[in-house]
Amino acid sequence: MLTVEAALARILASLPPGRTERVALTDAYGRVLAEPVVSGLDLPPWDNSAMDGFAVRAADVPGELAIGETIAAGHPATRAVASGTAARIMTGAPVPAGADAVIMVEDAEVDGRKVRFAGAARLGQHIRRRGSDVARGTTVLAAGHRLGAGAVGLLASLGLTEVQVGARPRVAILSTGDEVIPPGQPLGPGQIYSSNNHALVGLTAAAGAIPVDLGNCPDDPAALRQRFAEAAEVADLVVTTGGVSVGDFDFVKEALGAVEFWRVAMKPGKPLAFGSLHGRPFFGLPGNPVSCMVNFLQFVRPALRTLMGDPRPFLPIVEAELARPLKRAPGRVELLRVSLARVDGRLIATAAGGHQGSSNVLGMATANGFLLVDAAATEVSGHVHVQVFDPGYDDRTDAGYPWAAGAAGGAACCGPEGG
Ligand code: AMP
Ligand code: MG
Repeated sequence: MLTVEAALARILASLPPGRTERVALTDAYGRVLAEPVVSGLDLPPWDNSAMDGFAVRAADVPGELAIGETIAAGHPATRAVASGTAARIMTGAPVPAGADAVIMVEDAEVDGRKVRFAGAARLGQHIRRRGSDVARGTTVLAAGHRLGAGAVGLLASLGLTEVQVGARPRVAILSTGDEVIPPGQPLGPGQIYSSNNHALVGLTAAAGAIPVDLGNCPDDPAALRQRFAEAAEVADLVVTTGGVSVGDFDFVKEALGAVEFWRVAMKPGKPLAFGSLHGRPFFGLPGNPVSCMVNFLQFVRPALRTLMGDPRPFLPIVEAELARPLKRAPGRVELLRVSLARVDGRLIATAAGGHQGSSNVLGMATANGFLLVDAAATEVSGHVHVQVFDPGYDDRTDAGYPWAAGAAGGAACCGPEGG
């Protein structure tokens, strides 16, 4: 049997280089940068006012000054601020020549064409200096950065309209099995609905790749060969489910050339086929719904993230406490389905509903993480590591917002002086 590490290392080492593409900023959210971004601009591009108020010479205040022109955002001043005068200025407007401080309107006393300032002004106060946020020539984002909303906003602030990112691989998804039909029609004798196609569509999209659901293929070597060839044609990477075990009708092996069949020392999800199908990475996942998802998340997802240029292709792992100790048979590493919840500030992992068998779709539906158990462990208790696979992971047990009407614990969060 292959260890998970060995299987993963072989998979990642055999991947082709990921493609990159240029996308419009409107499509950049969530993508991985393929090259560093260097600022071609100073931000702000010129000195501007941080307040609605008056642009003055600091040496002139305290005192009474004559009001000159009004400077709105987007409309630079036509003349310098002379000694003994002040220009009205709005937030975001360019600071005029001559001025070296801005006084907020709340601290000014206007009387017709004159304005009085009772207090002194610090040199440069309320002026956002050119380049103080970002200096031109600075590398603002590194290659491999996953673009969140703030990063996309930064790129727009720099005036960029396009950005080079890792291309999203197209993933063909094909389930196999004579018994498997899509939901939407009545079940015949011996039939089940395919859970795997839909679960894999979700997992693929959550990984940032593009799912192409090719439905199901019966357990027939000739049909499998043909559908596999089609799958390799329409996608960058092929994922199948079922037929990789040792059953009499597990024909996936026969239908594939350059693919190896592994037994990975992991529970659930021992059988795994991996190789190249017409030049595309091919993953033959087991048919059991839980094994299928576990295998996808341990092996296919890191491969997809790597192809997209993500330097951290693995799911995050958090530390938690196991609610109730468990006994187990040692031998293989195990991924127990758990749900995480914060109780009195502690993160508690509770085994997901039902049994931990590889067909328990209910447990998988309510879990948000895999508790990672070492191969040698005979008991799991106390402090544990949980790999979080739910992209919408939320460990709150209440409304969780201190300022929600009627929410408990509002004051406990931030106190009366919060903010
Ligand atoms: P197999 O890997 O083909 O031996 O299938 C193992 C188990 O998973 C069997 O009980 C199958 O009926 C079930 N199975 C296979 N494919 C699917 C699928 N697409 N959706 C749900 N269960 C499946
Ligand atoms: Mg089967």
